[in-house]
Amino acid sequence: ARRVAIMTSGGDSQGMNGVVRAVVRMSIHMGCEAYAILEGYEGLVRGGDAIKRMYWEDVRGYLSIGGTLIGTKRCQEFKARSGRMEAAKNLVMKGISGLIVCGGDGSLTGADIFRSEWPSLLDELVQTKQLTPEQIEPHRHLNICGLVGSIDNDFSGTDATIGCYSSLQRICEMVDAVDDTAASHMRGFVIEVMGRNCGWLALMASIATGADYVFIPEKPPGQDWEEEMCEIVISHRKLGKRRTIIIISEGAQNTELQKITADQVVKVLTEKLKLDTRKTVLGHIQRGGLPSYYDRWLATLQGVEAVKALLEATPETPSPVITVRENKILRSDLQECVRLTKSAGAALKGKDFKKAMNLRDIEFKD
Ligand code: ATP
Repeated sequence: ARRVAIMTSGGDSQGMNGVVRAVVRMSIHMGCEAYAILEGYEGLVRGGDAIKRMYWEDVRGYLSIGGTLIGTKRCQEFKARSGRMEAAKNLVMKGISGLIVCGGDGSLTGADIFRSEWPSLLDELVQTKQLTPEQIEPHRHLNICGLVGSIDNDFSGTDATIGCYSSLQRICEMVDAVDDTAASHMRGFVIEVMGRNCGWLALMASIATGADYVFIPEKPPGQDWEEEMCEIVISHRKLGKRRTIIIISEGAQNTELQKITADQVVKVLTEKLKLDTRKTVLGHIQRGGLPSYYDRWLATLQGVEAVKALLEATPETPSPVITVRENKILRSDLQECVRLTKSAGAALKGKDFKKAMNLRDIEFKD
């Protein structure tokens, strides 16, 4: 039977366990043996017990648990060819020639590099007598397939990364909780949310909670943002609003790429408006907890599709990444999506904010 391995890598997100469950069970359903690689690329480099056979019942209950039960880590060794050599040796020794990686653009780039290097890695393993020609013969090709797991929704080419909607749900619940106390005391709150250099979580949360003002990296406020924000807050107060909620993305910046911090915003509201204002940094609460129904659905359907894509791949097929667009689960070109994702980051750094928005499919109506 063919052997299929699943790994979670990079930052954890809700729904990753659903991916593991779907891949393990779909692989078994398709007559393959399923394996889990523990602790991301570190497990691949380490081999041995870190590459674990998985059976149908091993993933029972996975669908509704947050985080990743098979672990994830950042692994420097895999970034070097020597680390990838070890990884290739471990996969050949386990007889695995299909690898599904669920992670962010870094993890998926790593997987694609690994696949393109695979034949030369095997040759070198034979030359250095670490493996015999007979051992590598059945594993001449490595097939990989990517799945995008991230709370940030920062990957181009897909409408939603696995985990982003659970995280958004969590943020909304927390903002609602803060809202109660804010309204009681007529206070202001500046709430910092995750997303790295992507403003999707902050923007969606601000719409979903009716926030008064939002800071995202892709739409930096003008130089007069302090006045603008204060005017908006005052006008909302005049309409009878008892609380003020400002949402700020951790990557917030001005048009000159200088960071705007939650503390700065608190200071403006306190000093200019004499508004009793507090800061709340949601932090890792946003990553954990129950996966939403959407992430369970996405993880399951994309996990199933990943196994199909892997089993249908030929040595000539470009590495696929499973995406979702307009509610359809699709196979996209991994390299192309990674390229677009990196372009979005580069556009931000080059102050081409509109381009960054477009590349991330974020719509912001003025
Ligand atoms: P997140 O978006 O949550 O940060 P990510 O997958 O982008 O997820 P990274 O830290 O960039 O997170 O990558 C995770 C791991 O993938 C790295 O620790 C490394 O082992 C591997 N990796 C990343 N980039 C490469 C690369 N260019 N070549 C080989 N391996 C890589």
